[in-house]
Amino acid sequence: MAEVVILGSAQDGGVPHAGCLCAHCRVARRDPAARRRPASLGVRVGDAWLIIDATSAFEEQLHMLWGRRPASAGHDAERYRPPETVIISHAHTGHYTGLWLLDKSVLAAQSVNVLAPPLTAALLSANEPWSAMMRDGYIELAALEWEQPRELLPGVSISPIEVPHRSEWPTDTAAFQITGDAASLLYLPDIDFWDEWKLDVAEAVAGVDIAILDGSFWDAPTSPDVPHPPVRETMDRLQAIADAGGCRIIFTHLNHSNPLVGDGTPERAELVRRGYEVAYDGMVIEI
Ligand SMILES: [Zn+2]
Ligand SMILES: [Zn+2]
Ligand SMILES: [Zn+2]
Repeated sequence: MAEVVILGSAQDGGVPHAGCLCAHCRVARRDPAARRRPASLGVRVGDAWLIIDATSAFEEQLHMLWGRRPASAGHDAERYRPPETVIISHAHTGHYTGLWLLDKSVLAAQSVNVLAPPLTAALLSANEPWSAMMRDGYIELAALEWEQPRELLPGVSISPIEVPHRSEWPTDTAAFQITGDAASLLYLPDIDFWDEWKLDVAEAVAGVDIAILDGSFWDAPTSPDVPHPPVRETMDRLQAIADAGGCRIIFTHLNHSNPLVGDGTPERAELVRRGYEVAYDGMVIEI
């Protein structure tokens, strides 16, 4: 059986968020258990593991997943190795800049396979410090092929699906269909608008056992420059699937302002009543 681990459930800046004194950020500074690291997903089969996205909390997220491997329990060396593969969903800084920890100044990794969507891979390979990390052999970069499932861990195939999302450089953004022996899962932490996607979100979600979706904002985004579908709109679109109970639908990538960040809010109660879930750091799902 493979497991998927939520290594981070916040939007790119995490909770607490730089420069913010809101109630959620104050609570998270007081209570480490209330922190949410930037969105990242781990996948593990036995001792084999990989991570989707390298965030500003990459060190903690690496260690969190590495520690779940059976072999890690008896590991008595002073160092441990990163996974063979790190997948990058897109080139927004919250999702990839943690790769610098693989460079010689920190971990000095050996040829970690970094897989990224085509335009994102081109951007990384054309710019420092990532191109130097490739030249020096700390990482090897390769482009993902859209909708081509690859068995990246024993018994687990991962297929990248392009989604519409702010493309400044320009770059591209992937969601992932992750299929294990027991279940299939859609991981889609960032999208601008459901109606701009070539797939119908209800059909895509109905086709998997678990969907982990963009839950950045409860209502409107805090800035028109950062569009995301509000959780309420997504719940409306998927209500029939949630009511039927065939698919777990979990929201992740929460902005620090999102009332779903806190426990006991009316919004959280509405979401649960309607049959949905909120991701949390350390959440484990078997597939
Ligand atoms: Zn993001
Ligand atoms: Zn805040
Ligand atoms: Zn993004």
